[in-house]
Amino acid sequence: MGKRIIKYIKKILYCLVQVIYSGDESCVICSGYSEESEALCTVCRKKLRRSEESFYIGSSEEEYVARSVFYYSSIVKELIIRLKYKNDFICGEILAKYMLESVKNNYLEFDLISYVPMTKRALKNRGYNQSEFLAKYLSQFLSIPVTCNLIKTEDTKDQIGLSGDQRWDNMKKCFEIKGSEFIKNKNILLVDDVITTGATAFHCAHMLKENGANNIFILTIAKSNV
Ligand SMILES: [Zn+2]
Repeated sequence: MGKRIIKYIKKILYCLVQVIYSGDESCVICSGYSEESEALCTVCRKKLRRSEESFYIGSSEEEYVARSVFYYSSIVKELIIRLKYKNDFICGEILAKYMLESVKNNYLEFDLISYVPMTKRALKNRGYNQSEFLAKYLSQFLSIPVTCNLIKTEDTKDQIGLSGDQRWDNMKKCFEIKGSEFIKNKNILLVDDVITTGATAFHCAHMLKENGANNIFILTIAKSNV
């Protein structure tokens, strides 16, 4: 009887070790073998489409420099969806690491990190803000503080059926600033997950600038053309 129990315990331990072991060696996307305990396997990493060039959003009267680490496709899309809608912070960490790498490789310099906010209602529904998660990860590894003074006051109305200009205008008045003294003359990195038309990031950057920030640089994980 005693032997059977020991055998049983040994079996459980073996299974646990297998779970831990396989967790370390398998890709979070395809569960395929991943060497050196990388979160993504070689095949999935090859599918990441890098976006190398920085770009401008806005018009010549008021524009901001932006950079995305990737294009919004395939693996990146999957990682972002998991972070955004499935509480998957392991995927969040993978993305945040790539963001950190981009900050370092492009020698981006700034005094503060900010992020695109969500309305109170949206935050309550999701339980967290994925852009805040990314900003806080960067803050931790760069030892640069995060400022939470951008506020989203209204949920953006349904954008479907609106023209580009209408979409852009739809975003106006959605954002406010509290505690503007913290951003005076500061260079700010504004973080978001995906940039599409650029309207959201532009209006956030505009609020920071209007309230005394010096320079705003926008960094997103992905750039989508849809
Ligand atoms: Zn994979």
